[in-house]
Amino acid sequence: MPSFGARLLGALLLALAAATAPAQPPKRVLLLHSWGPVFGDLYAKDMRVQLSRQMPGHLELYEEWLVSARFADRQEDAAFAGYLGTLFADHPVDLVITLGAPAANFVQRYQQSLFSSTPELLADVEERRTADSSLTPNETAVAIGVSFPAVVQNILRVRPQTSTLAVVIGNSPIEKFWVGQIRDALEPIKSRISLSFLTELPFSEVLRRIATLPPRSAILYILLSPDIEGIPQDEDTALAQLHAVANAPMFSYTDAYLGKGIVGGPLISGEEQGRATVSVAARLLSGEDPSAIRLPPIGVGKPQFDWRELKRWNISESDLPAGSTILFRDPSAWERNRWQLLATAAVLVLQSGLIVGLLHERRRRRNAELNSHRHLAELARMNRRSTIGELSTSIAHEISQPLGAILRNTEAAQAILNKGSPDLEELKDIMADIERDERRANEVINRLRGLLANVPTETKDVDPNEVVREVFEFLSAQAAARGIALTTSLAPGPVYVSGDRIQLQQVVLNLVINGMDAIGAAVTKERRITGHTMLVDRTAAEVAIEDSGPGIQMDTVEHIFEPFFTTKETGMGVGLSIARTIVANHLGRIWAENLYGAGAVFRFKLPLAKKADRERLPAQTAVSG
Ligand code: ADP
Repeated sequence: MPSFGARLLGALLLALAAATAPAQPPKRVLLLHSWGPVFGDLYAKDMRVQLSRQMPGHLELYEEWLVSARFADRQEDAAFAGYLGTLFADHPVDLVITLGAPAANFVQRYQQSLFSSTPELLADVEERRTADSSLTPNETAVAIGVSFPAVVQNILRVRPQTSTLAVVIGNSPIEKFWVGQIRDALEPIKSRISLSFLTELPFSEVLRRIATLPPRSAILYILLSPDIEGIPQDEDTALAQLHAVANAPMFSYTDAYLGKGIVGGPLISGEEQGRATVSVAARLLSGEDPSAIRLPPIGVGKPQFDWRELKRWNISESDLPAGSTILFRDPSAWERNRWQLLATAAVLVLQSGLIVGLLHERRRRRNAELNSHRHLAELARMNRRSTIGELSTSIAHEISQPLGAILRNTEAAQAILNKGSPDLEELKDIMADIERDERRANEVINRLRGLLANVPTETKDVDPNEVVREVFEFLSAQAAARGIALTTSLAPGPVYVSGDRIQLQQVVLNLVINGMDAIGAAVTKERRITGHTMLVDRTAAEVAIEDSGPGIQMDTVEHIFEPFFTTKETGMGVGLSIARTIVANHLGRIWAENLYGAGAVFRFKLPLAKKADRERLPAQTAVSG
């Protein structure tokens, strides 16, 4: 039976090499294969490599193939024996090793004429073929012991539902022998499982049967080497073809077929056979008597299974005997892609770190923003208070005017009442004037309160026209006191933007006060500040505060919006930076230009509030004037 692996002969040659001392003449060993050179080359290849590497010159290895073993009739054996006799007549070999039963049988049959005094090692034979009684004193064997009931027991353990066993075996003399052995061994369980021998059939028919077995079948693959139509003469491809079409799981007795299509079970180990054969060969070459070496047959080892077959036939790993080894497991995703997975994990860890870092950074920034908002609000309030402080003249004027008028009117009313017949109509007019002046004073106070109030941001539709008008009105007295004319040129009709009215007032207030400061210090022909509003592209409102001062100093243009930048002796340097922050919060932009001739213009542009408002805008845009 061809159950030796390449390992066996490789190891064998190493052992033979060890048994032959370099100083001694080379040992001549004949390896007699039972099967053809292609099949046999599976072993011979490794052997030749080992030979050339390990012991050049110390071992002469001869290989022959008993191809006649495939044929049902053995007419050719005698001729083959004659050939071997001639070949080794003058150069007898030191050891004959046979691989498989046909070669063992052949050597035993022709021992007298061919190898009468040569030690013979019969390897890879079943014990029934080499019972001690059949061994001559020149012979020893490394046999295997196959228990067919145990093989079937394994099948029934992993596939308890099995009721038909199809035995795939060829038609050569040795295979015919095994058909009988199997039939006899399984006789006691024939009521439990019915046997079907696929023998003496063309290979195409074997394939067809294997593909159409009845449900609850299993296949027992023994050997297919013989003279059957359609089977490759000297190849190991029959098993692969069977495996491809089988509709039931395949089993066998040797691990030589594990990985080639059988499910597995307790199997005879080729490796163990190899080790034993090598060690016996070494003993024989060192002169030990073959008849003194009588080894028990090698039995099955620990159960081994092919993971792919377990999957294919839905056999659960928990149904396998304890201590089973599962081979050919598909590498897990981890094993297959270890490096990619490690790299991905590293990237993920980095990414997570980055995300955590970014989140932390974002939180920090938000906190900073919140703080800066608070600071900004605080600064803005300070800015407003200081502005209001500066505007005390204007405020005093605004309030004192109506109050003075009220006082004068009250005096006039008293004078009228003191008359004998007071003119009630006149009194009514006076009362109305008092009421109007009182309302005016009230308005001033309310406006002041609004500017100074610590009110939260409030977003509403605001008309920049109103903002400019109110601020200009508010500052008119102050401007007049400084000899500056305030004029406006406003867009016709409202140009609503969305925002906080008081904040926008503060922007305009800061710009106008800056304009007044600029004019105040200069000796200019004209002292005027003009507030413009205009609609730009029907999508934005632009406010421009233009003054007739000396303009922005060229070397400071880039810095004037920076916080705490000032060119004034008592300046705080926050007015423009606050204006820029407020405008940016309203999604707008603020910038400054020097006018041709003299003066500066500060402009800010804000998006219009809503589409609806844009639609109700006047058709023509206002032009600054
Ligand atoms: P402050 O008014 O306290 O100096 P601002 O931030 O309001 O702070 O102004 C910063 C600087 O910008 C001023 O000191 C001045 O140099 C310049 N500036 C502002 N407005 C004008 C203007 N209308 N004309 C010329 N320079 C100006």
